Amino acid sequence: MQIFKCPFCGTRNETEFRYTGQVGKLRPEPASQIEEGEWAKYVHFTENVRGPSREIWTHMTCGEVFFMTRDSQTMRVLATEALRRDTQ
Ligand SMILES: [Zn+2]
Repeated sequence: MQIFKCPFCGTRNETEFRYTGQVGKLRPEPASQIEEGEWAKYVHFTENVRGPSREIWTHMTCGEVFFMTRDSQTMRVLATEALRRDTQ
């Protein structure tokens, strides 16, 4: 079991968190005009970074979305940071 740190609630069990997305991955727009192949690539493919990776996570208990920098080799959490600037 891992312990993650929510920027709002503090340290919690990993089971309270959900991976939400890759930082910098932009939704293709306008969505109604995007071809199936490009849309499938957007929905199903993410970078598989080896080493430190900046990701977007959600703490399901409080509902807040935040940045997490995590080393994909060691699974060590290096930092967490709120998305909202008005909370820190
Ligand atoms: Zn939280």
